[in-house]
Amino acid sequence: MPLTSRLATGEVLDSTTCSDEDWERVHRARPRVELTCRGCDGSMHAKRSRRGLRFFAHDQLREDCPSAGETAEHLLLKATIAGFVRDAGWQPIIEATPTTDDVGGWRADVLAVGPAGDRVALEAQLAPMTTAVGEQRTATYAADGIRTLWFTTKNAPWLYEIPGVKVVQETSGNDSESERLIATRGCVQLDRGSGGELHWLIRTDLDAARLVDGYLNGRSVAHRIGHLWDTYVAGSQPRYDSHTDAVAIVPSAHVDEIERRRLLRERERRRRQAEQDRWAAQRDYREPDAGGGCRCSRANKGQWRRRRRLRAPSALMRHCIIWVETFMTSAASSTVRPRLRRRITACSGTNRTEPK
Ligand SMILES: [Zn+2]
Repeated sequence: MPLTSRLATGEVLDSTTCSDEDWERVHRARPRVELTCRGCDGSMHAKRSRRGLRFFAHDQLREDCPSAGETAEHLLLKATIAGFVRDAGWQPIIEATPTTDDVGGWRADVLAVGPAGDRVALEAQLAPMTTAVGEQRTATYAADGIRTLWFTTKNAPWLYEIPGVKVVQETSGNDSESERLIATRGCVQLDRGSGGELHWLIRTDLDAARLVDGYLNGRSVAHRIGHLWDTYVAGSQPRYDSHTDAVAIVPSAHVDEIERRRLLRERERRRRQAEQDRWAAQRDYREPDAGGGCRCSRANKGQWRRRRRLRAPSALMRHCIIWVETFMTSAASSTVRPRLRRRITACSGTNRTEPK
């Protein structure tokens, strides 16, 4: 049961956007207006559901049609999503097929086309689908430069594996006009814990219209999260799941914040490493090499002085101690008895005495 149909002129009639006059021209019109299915070329007629949703039905059931098995719930979700796309300022193309420039292999429930020409496929996936199939279909869209957002009304296994959300209908009071579609799984935001630390928190009350608007207009993105604790209700039972490398819809600002913190951590790590390297170089400088010789040659004394000017106070202190030691060893070497001289192992420049 598609939402679009092809007229005899080749024009596509979209039941969700066409005017009332255009609809009346095909709905229960006598003589019948020729309508064909865009999926299987079968003949169709215009229909209206008990809830007022306009759609097209095949004259004869076609098993080979891509829209075979589409339920009223699926049609309603597709039409609702198309409405969200329109509200976000993008053009929705229902049951879209690839253009001649595309690699192809897809048929989008709703293809949102932005003002700059970028495309996002929004899929109302109510039929069961494995994660592998979801990933493969997402990759097919990506090959044509199309981002995806998948919608389900169940706890589908592909949630947090591909960019997608679980939506539920929320009705306030008895007024069916105030029905809202709420995303209860798939969207995540940064939250500050009691100790002030940041962690990812699953949003269970995000308005689906706002989600689509944000996702299309760049305020939220599909982002890979290292680890995510997922708590949700299945039936009436609470469930706990742990996801590694979870794909979730995240506010762009929060992704930027995480990236900023990562860069700060990286800079701090490099600063510490450089500090450690400096200390290591200083230690090597003092210690005699394996051959028992001394690195404290006249040539690198100039380097010592240069370093001394650049060092922080603690490092300067270290150098003072080395210089004092060197001076005292030199003084001792000229006055103390040879036996004592042999016991002096510290660096003493050109007067260095080998330990025996
Ligand atoms: Zn068909």
